[in-house]
Amino acid sequence: MSTKHNNIYSIFQDRFPEDTSATFIETADGAEYSYAYLEQETSRIARFLTSQGIKKGDRIAVQVEKSPHVLFLYLACLRAGFVYLPLNTAYTKSELSYFLENAEPVLVVCKTETEELFSDFKNKTLKHVFTLDLNEHGSLIEQSRSTAAEFETAACNTDDIAVILYTSGTTGRPKGAMITHGNLAANSLALQKAWGWQQSDVLLHALPIFHIHGLFVACHNVLLGGSKMLFLEKFDSKTVTQLLPKATVFMGVPTFYTRLLDEPSFDRTCSQNMRLFISGSAPLLEQTFEDFQQRSSHTILERYGMTETGMNTSNPLKGDRIAGTVGLPLPGVEARIVDENNQAVKNNSVGVLQVKGDNVFKGYWRMPEKTAEEFTDDHFFITGDMAQYNEQGYISIVGRNKDMVITGGYNVYPKEVELLLDETEGVKESAVIGLSHKDFGEAVTAIVVPEDINNPPNVDGLKKSLKEQLASYKTPKKIIFIEKLPRNTMGKVQKNILRETYSDLYK
Ligand code: AMP
Repeated sequence: MSTKHNNIYSIFQDRFPEDTSATFIETADGAEYSYAYLEQETSRIARFLTSQGIKKGDRIAVQVEKSPHVLFLYLACLRAGFVYLPLNTAYTKSELSYFLENAEPVLVVCKTETEELFSDFKNKTLKHVFTLDLNEHGSLIEQSRSTAAEFETAACNTDDIAVILYTSGTTGRPKGAMITHGNLAANSLALQKAWGWQQSDVLLHALPIFHIHGLFVACHNVLLGGSKMLFLEKFDSKTVTQLLPKATVFMGVPTFYTRLLDEPSFDRTCSQNMRLFISGSAPLLEQTFEDFQQRSSHTILERYGMTETGMNTSNPLKGDRIAGTVGLPLPGVEARIVDENNQAVKNNSVGVLQVKGDNVFKGYWRMPEKTAEEFTDDHFFITGDMAQYNEQGYISIVGRNKDMVITGGYNVYPKEVELLLDETEGVKESAVIGLSHKDFGEAVTAIVVPEDINNPPNVDGLKKSLKEQLASYKTPKKIIFIEKLPRNTMGKVQKNILRETYSDLYK
């Protein structure tokens, strides 16, 4: 049924603090934005965009730097039933051209610097380009300022699309995941409970907001809690360390945690008011988990999710948080790990992780065949992540299906080799990939970041120690030392780049 209460914005609104003069956002330079201001600003923007002829279901593409007003724009879109389409600020012109052609937005909000570029894309569908810059500058804010701050939140069905997010897929063209108001509500409410969110919580927000982690997981928890966040334009270990005493919750990708550990001023004292450190979006090394525990006396809570599903699993708030695992399925999420015949595998055996629940997206935008391929007959979404259960029901992610190496007909899960390499003295981290090889099809290859690039471990010694612990087909044929692994903004190792760089290694 189409009601205002199915609109995720109404669900947030119901939980706003009674005293709406309470702070929603505080920026690094001390500017504060209250819940009352949030209500006003989202009303204004929603009303202004409606006056431009934007209708429910229309797409609004947004490529701007992080600022409180981007969040107000997002919330205004939710309120009005527009489909919000956030774009990574790193996307280039040719990538943007694909997204615009595929999603057909009617309106783009961009930085002044890229206004001309986007204006060149104007066509029958894309009619409006507004700008939104830092410090509340830009035509969107200037023009909506004179609009009355009155807006009736639009009625929605739970399966109305709220957001389209292009997945950071490493192969093929990016796919637009259609995420509904119902998906957002189900997942956000589940997390709120699982992580014991309270109104008194203060989130230190240092993530980008064009991705589910920073936009949904982080901001929705704050909105549902009616709580406050300290909003940073970007992550910087010094600023984060300085602000931690004012916060109770921090969310980060694993690289944030390794950088905090590299920051000399990060210690127990600055994190003594903290309630929770959460990590996700990429695997957290066991070493980082342990080093962080030692240094701060806090145990990082690791959770796992993806654009198409939101969060699926989490280590518990109360109870054991186990390093190297992503915890247990969240309430409302069914998770199973299956073999190639779709049969559940035994504990500690690797299979493909499939999930089902109200958190799972509606499908890929204008790709019904691709959508159908990613679901089983009984409507489980095939995540593409290889995983295993332990005896306590905790899940570990072993790698992406497509990252699996097939060498001489044998399957090798990179994670198994990476874990052993990472434990070796002199090794900081590693990425194991398969490279084309005329005898084996693919050859297991290890790209290793040594502790000291000028004094890397001995290759023969490394291979020998791996051979003692692994079947020989899993042992890397070659080991290459590099200074740093390529990572995307969410901290994921870009194995596609490594595969490309070393594609001729065995030729
Ligand atoms: P994205 O859609 O960009 O959020 O990427 C989702 C993918 O990130 C998942 O399918 C996993 O491969 C990976 N991922 C997310 N969280 C974790 C985690 N805690 N541990 C390991 N991999 C993760």
